[in-house]
Amino acid sequence: MTEPLPTYAVRRAQGVELELEDGRTLVEGMSSWWAALHGFRHPALDAALKEQVDKMAHVMFGGLTHEPAATLGKMLVDMSMPGLDKVFLCDSGSVSVEVAMKMAVQFWFTTGKPAKSKFVTLRNGYHGDTFGAMSVCDPVNGMHSMFQGSLAKQVFVDTPSDCSEAAALEAAAGLRAVLEERHEELAAFIVEPVVQGAGGMRFYSPLLLKKARELCDEFDVLLIFDEIATGFGRTGTLFAAEQSTEQFKPMCTPCPAEVCTCRHPEQAQEPVSEPVVPDIICLGKALTGGYMTMGATMATDRISQGISGTGGVFMHGPTFMGNPLASAVAIASLSLLVNEPWGMRLAAVEDVLKAEMESLTDLAQVKQVRVLGGIGVCELHEPVKDMARVQNAFVEQGVWLRPFGKLLYTMPCFNSPALTDEHVVKITDAIRAVVTNDLAE
Ligand SMILES: *Cc1c(COP(=O)(O)O)cnc(C)c1O
Repeated sequence: MTEPLPTYAVRRAQGVELELEDGRTLVEGMSSWWAALHGFRHPALDAALKEQVDKMAHVMFGGLTHEPAATLGKMLVDMSMPGLDKVFLCDSGSVSVEVAMKMAVQFWFTTGKPAKSKFVTLRNGYHGDTFGAMSVCDPVNGMHSMFQGSLAKQVFVDTPSDCSEAAALEAAAGLRAVLEERHEELAAFIVEPVVQGAGGMRFYSPLLLKKARELCDEFDVLLIFDEIATGFGRTGTLFAAEQSTEQFKPMCTPCPAEVCTCRHPEQAQEPVSEPVVPDIICLGKALTGGYMTMGATMATDRISQGISGTGGVFMHGPTFMGNPLASAVAIASLSLLVNEPWGMRLAAVEDVLKAEMESLTDLAQVKQVRVLGGIGVCELHEPVKDMARVQNAFVEQGVWLRPFGKLLYTMPCFNSPALTDEHVVKITDAIRAVVTNDLAE
């Protein structure tokens, strides 16, 4: 690179802290990009990995199978929404999106509707960095605009403008218009449920998911949920698709909606009570507790049977599919979620984030503050220009956060036994200090 930004060398990590080569310690406010939900060097995860490496690190997953992958598959089926009974293990989040898109296309091909090969999605989405995934990222601010010429042309629908029911219904109307006109060429609607991550850290009402399910059924289009960022508890429910109107209580300050059901769930006109079950779901990030790269794509029996047709197989087979080390550590991570009170821990993190972040809106540089579950977002009026200075300022405050455009955001390691309220306050104090001292008004 011609002007590389400074990097910080990490010597080790423990609990919720990184230790730099120069001896400084930083509270990790990013969970290694949403992944390290139990923190670093968790004894159960370390042990699972060590035990597995003494048996086998890897074997090919064609013609051979093994207990770690089978157990992981069963656990995912048990934990996820009813109906998602088939699991495809793959390399990463982006690959799990590629797999989901290929599943949708192959499903329509084998069931006699090969014209259904395009995708519809929300603007402001982020689904990964490989070509299929890039094609459904936001075409303008999705980080991939220079690749547009090489990408498949997909169909985009406006995102809800805030987290009210009204905004969700408006977006659903936009989806209906597209489906009415183009359903014959559409394989699936792919969406990040409730929280759009790297495309802008925006929250929207689960009512849109319910409406999307109804519309997809009406127009014979598959529904894909990308839960790579939101899966495994981050939003307050194990999967964001399980958010009901009752549970969906983000803090958005200032709140742009006149009648905001996220603040007053009792005013919900159309309550969502049941989890919305997609046809296909993508998982990654926290799947292995932040230890190793792995993704999973899950589908219903209908999708699997359709793809298989008269004896065919799904046309995807990664070299490291079902990697035993990643599977073993994923099993250990999911076991912690099954056996530990992660919901209580997450609620405590959410309370501190809400209490500490609300007053950030008093600062002139801040446009809006949003909190949902273990996600705290401080949106600025202007993008961070001097990234090196701001990054260093956070390090000086003893905190690891990675600003992104207009966003200063945190998702702490919410299920780490080492995480205390003081850690979370240290993160939010650092945001306040950096906005005050290092960003011009
Ligand atoms: C991170 C992310 C991806 C891509 O996952 P990688 O493991 O980085 O390839 C896809 N979708 C969403 C919603 C993500 O947050």
